[in-house]
Amino acid sequence: MTAPQNSPAPAIVWLRDDLRVADNPALVAAVERGGAVVVLYLLDEVSAGIRPLGSASRWWLHHSLESLASAISTLGGQLVLRRGAAAEELPRLVAELDAGAVFWNRRYGASRDIDAALKLRLRADGVEVQSFQASLLFEPWTVTTGDGNPYRVFTPFWRACLSRGVARSPLSEPTAITAPRDTPAGDTLADWALLPTRDWSVGLSEKWSPGEDAAHDALEHFATDILENYHRRDEPGVESTSGLSPYLRFGELSPLQVWHRLQAPLIPAAQKNAAHFLSEIGWREFNWNILYFSPELHTKNYRPAFDAFPWRTDRERHLRAWKHGRTGIPLVDAGMRELRQSGVMHNRIRMVTASFLIKNLLIDWRVGEAWFWDTLVDADEASNPANWQWVAGSGADAAPYFRVFNPLLQAEKFDKQRRYVVRWVPEVDSSDYAKPIVDLKLSRQDALAAYDVMKAAEAR
Ligand SMILES: Cc1cc2nc3c(=O)[nH]c(=O)nc-3n(C[C@H](O)[C@H](O)[C@H](O)COP(=O)(O)OP(=O)(O)OC[C@H]3O[C@@H](n4cnc5c(N)ncnc54)[C@H](O)[C@@H]3O)c2cc1C
Repeated sequence: MTAPQNSPAPAIVWLRDDLRVADNPALVAAVERGGAVVVLYLLDEVSAGIRPLGSASRWWLHHSLESLASAISTLGGQLVLRRGAAAEELPRLVAELDAGAVFWNRRYGASRDIDAALKLRLRADGVEVQSFQASLLFEPWTVTTGDGNPYRVFTPFWRACLSRGVARSPLSEPTAITAPRDTPAGDTLADWALLPTRDWSVGLSEKWSPGEDAAHDALEHFATDILENYHRRDEPGVESTSGLSPYLRFGELSPLQVWHRLQAPLIPAAQKNAAHFLSEIGWREFNWNILYFSPELHTKNYRPAFDAFPWRTDRERHLRAWKHGRTGIPLVDAGMRELRQSGVMHNRIRMVTASFLIKNLLIDWRVGEAWFWDTLVDADEASNPANWQWVAGSGADAAPYFRVFNPLLQAEKFDKQRRYVVRWVPEVDSSDYAKPIVDLKLSRQDALAAYDVMKAAEAR
């Protein structure tokens, strides 16, 4: 459908981490305004405050945009792709279209400064600009302690969130989008070369279907068939978690949609696990809250005492073995291979592999965080660094540093039948399997000694 002659100047909907047509307040506002709507995705890898995507996320983005473009065209609109610094590209498109309004859903990391500056500038030019809450259940500045400070501990944070209650129901997708008479030119997805040149992405295609429809199928499958097993979420060999993290990361699904699905009737066995599952969504909210107040979370220790930690920088060989799943420690290798082949890793094993890198190898958590950033399809600006810092002990409400996971005991406890280890490390019982690159007991002692060095520096 194209806009009639006397309709208002076109509106632009600028999509970012909200690649969906349902429960998308910015899109709904643009459509309700009347007139033509241009839906824009801008690949900005250059502005200050933007963390360029890793390879697995680029793969996901490619397929997600493909699926979004098709959903928008079914509604009568067109997804326009542009590349460059938002501060230049967005005003350029506004001028080209002589647009009267720009709508977006809010971001909460360092990139929010880009949005704030654009809002001021466009409004000064007489353009209507509106932003909306869509990616979090609770906006960070609305959940603070009694004295107005950010929460540093999860349990009171989540209690405070729950006492506020969730504000609204998910929005339906628009019934139609009106396209402008002349669609603005844009890039093609192929121009962006988001897909890897070496084809390690076969495993990603086998495991994942990016896009909004697949996100809803995954949510439905989880709520009806899997949630009843959620109390076994620590066992990597059992299908007991949702697999929703990349869909939430790219906003193919909103946390509000997840929340409301879990308020609908569930079988009693699933109902028992619903609050626990929603508290994990709460950890996502908590991490974004931390990032909002500490935007340099992936480069800076949340607890500055850790600045004095004596990390080892001479362990290239160990780092390589860790990345490629050849440490000779079965549970660590299984996790690192799962990551490389499928773009995700089970949560407990993320903790085990991170603890091994940080504590048994004494390699700076930022090195591991960067590897996860590159290889995870759910690599998230808040949850990745927050969880790495949680394991390191340098983060908010973190595990104490001296809690060094023993990967052999973790395997006995959570992968008793060895389903997970044998699946990802089939040679584990043969003589071909790597010998351990470190002694777990001695390296644990080294880790505790390094911690004492840091504590001594803190006391000085
Ligand atoms: C070192 C490390 C790095 C991590 N990096 C990321 C990351 O980049 N992106 C990411 O989404 N999660 C990250 N996590 C958290 C967690 O491992 C994943 O969210 C989870 O494994 C995703 O699987 P799921 O969707 O089946 O989880 P479910 O158990 O089904 O949980 C549902 C949702 O809750 C959220 N969630 C669950 N656990 C956490 C958590 N600990 N912190 C924050 N949110 C959580 C996720 O959005 C998840 O999709 C990391 C954890 C560790 C220990």
